[in-house]
Amino acid sequence: MLDHDVIIVGGGLAGCRAALEIARIDRSLNVAVVAKTHPIRSHSVAAQGGIAATLKNVDSEDSWEAHAFDTVKGSDYLADQDAVEILAQEAPDVVIDLEHLGVLFSRLPDGRIAQRPFGGHSYRRTCYAADKTGHAILHELVNNLRRYGVQIYQEWYVMRLILEEGEAKGLVMYHMLDGRLKVVRAKAVMLATGGYGRVFNTTSNDFASTGDGLAMVAQAGLPLQDMEFVQFHPTGLYPVGVLISEAVRGEGAYLRNSEGDRFMENYAPSKMELAPRDITSRAITLEIRAGRGIHTDGSAGGPFVHLDLRHMGREKIMSRIPFCWEEAHRLVGVDAVEEPMPVRPTAHYSMGGIPVDTDGRVRSGVEGFVEALFSAGECACVSVHGANRLGSNSLLECVVYGKRTGAAIAQYVQNRKLPSLEEAPYLQEAKEQVQALLDQQGEQRINPLRQAFQDAMSQYCGVFRDQELMEKGLEITQELQQNYGTIYLGDRGSLWNTEIIEALELKNIMVVGRMILTSALNRKESRGAHSREDYTQRDDPNFLKHSLAFYSAAGIDIQYRPVTLTQFEPQERKY
Ligand SMILES: Cc1cc2nc3c(=O)[nH]c(=O)nc-3n(C[C@H](O)[C@H](O)[C@H](O)COP(=O)(O)OP(=O)(O)OC[C@H]3O[C@@H](n4cnc5c(N)ncnc54)[C@H](O)[C@@H]3O)c2cc1C
Repeated sequence: MLDHDVIIVGGGLAGCRAALEIARIDRSLNVAVVAKTHPIRSHSVAAQGGIAATLKNVDSEDSWEAHAFDTVKGSDYLADQDAVEILAQEAPDVVIDLEHLGVLFSRLPDGRIAQRPFGGHSYRRTCYAADKTGHAILHELVNNLRRYGVQIYQEWYVMRLILEEGEAKGLVMYHMLDGRLKVVRAKAVMLATGGYGRVFNTTSNDFASTGDGLAMVAQAGLPLQDMEFVQFHPTGLYPVGVLISEAVRGEGAYLRNSEGDRFMENYAPSKMELAPRDITSRAITLEIRAGRGIHTDGSAGGPFVHLDLRHMGREKIMSRIPFCWEEAHRLVGVDAVEEPMPVRPTAHYSMGGIPVDTDGRVRSGVEGFVEALFSAGECACVSVHGANRLGSNSLLECVVYGKRTGAAIAQYVQNRKLPSLEEAPYLQEAKEQVQALLDQQGEQRINPLRQAFQDAMSQYCGVFRDQELMEKGLEITQELQQNYGTIYLGDRGSLWNTEIIEALELKNIMVVGRMILTSALNRKESRGAHSREDYTQRDDPNFLKHSLAFYSAAGIDIQYRPVTLTQFEPQERKY
């Protein structure tokens, strides 16, 4: 058994920022980070557009209150306003701190950090490093962890959380290189495992975004909050789904339909292309449905719309958003200086997740907390994004709440002993689970079953939903889940057996997908990213509340908890 004071699962922005904070507060603590990828290959590295903070370098009249209001309005009033106030108030300090760590932000001519407009934000407040912001931040964080001597277990896959009598005691992990299994015991466990984009067939997310942390928590009998709120980013590059950052519209690009019209005029006339993502994704989907999408040969009635940068000119494109230009050029052969990019919505971000308070403590239900278990970042739901996240608020959440959770953990483990834990039964169980997968005599490889599940999620729980559709989705996904036993592995060895990991991930994808569908079916209103054609209005009297979904083999049970309102009264959301 391996012992640490603190074990953090996830080497993305949230996990690394928390580890750094713990090390800064008390260097004597023995902190470890485990990640199934190399930490700098975490999905955070792909974040492009930027991180929001009211530095007021460009718009001097901006304020943290304005940032908080935009965020609450963007969330369709489902965000917990105490958490949003912390996010907006602490933003300038955490960004300056990142700069002091060495993050190379893009500059204004006078040397201060540059800021660009972003969807749903009423001022220019998004700080960026060209269109490689996540890359710039994550590299500095990981460098600093090494400097502080934080131990990193890279390419270890965490299979389960050890939770006994309401207390987290550690975890079980599998070494991808050689199949070794280890139990880790710790005084505090933190989950920072990121999003679940791979639950859907078209996504901007990394292959590793399979919702493992969420599935671990659900299978331990703990709730997941607001899982129905899945963000579909408006501009996934067609057909691959890879993200074309919102920064491209922030810098002035237009969305056009097959008739060449800037159709956002009909959906959000005051914000146009910089309307929030839920609204823009619905607009694109409706244009495509109405036959004003475009085919690859340029004719009308096709599956995508155009993102047009041509009027911006080569120099601006190449200096502000070079990576986006390169993506379209490399992946679909489009030179965006000369021709528009083909785009359509792509599954992008998880607003819901593991319910936590503003110190990252994991909730055990409508009331109460789990001992020694913490979470932050995209897998957590604190909830600052409510029903719809604004662009550039997620990196911010990772840094603000990663830091706060780190500080809470550093305090929590003072004078705390390692828990008593018997490792043998956990090791045995994990060994049997892996062996059972190796021995399984099924009739299909992993890929077709995963593809069928992802297709079902995209078809039955996409941008628009209704009862009949989702009931059908639940039926189909249940059947697919029951077919998990029909897969077999082509590789039965123990050295770098990626199929074992894919099989374990598929199990998690299925748990998370069904949590999303069930939570969505139970929310009989339209709010933010959850858009129902049978309940088209927001229904505050009945649904201004967070849903908590509890998973069990017998079925998924839904309960609700109240939303925290402070200074912003719910109003109609118009742009
Ligand atoms: C293409 C793209 C662009 C984006 N651009 C922006 C942007 O400009 N601004 C913004 O604010 N937000 C952006 N976002 C969202 C933002 O990047 C993410 O929400 C955020 O980076 C998530 O960070 P994280 O630390 O929570 O998780 P991640 O960075 O996803 O890291 C998760 C970590 O958990 C580890 N892990 C997961 N499961 C296991 C397991 N079973 N065992 C061991 N380790 C495990 C992974 O290896 C990884 O290290 C973007 C997202 C995408 C996909």
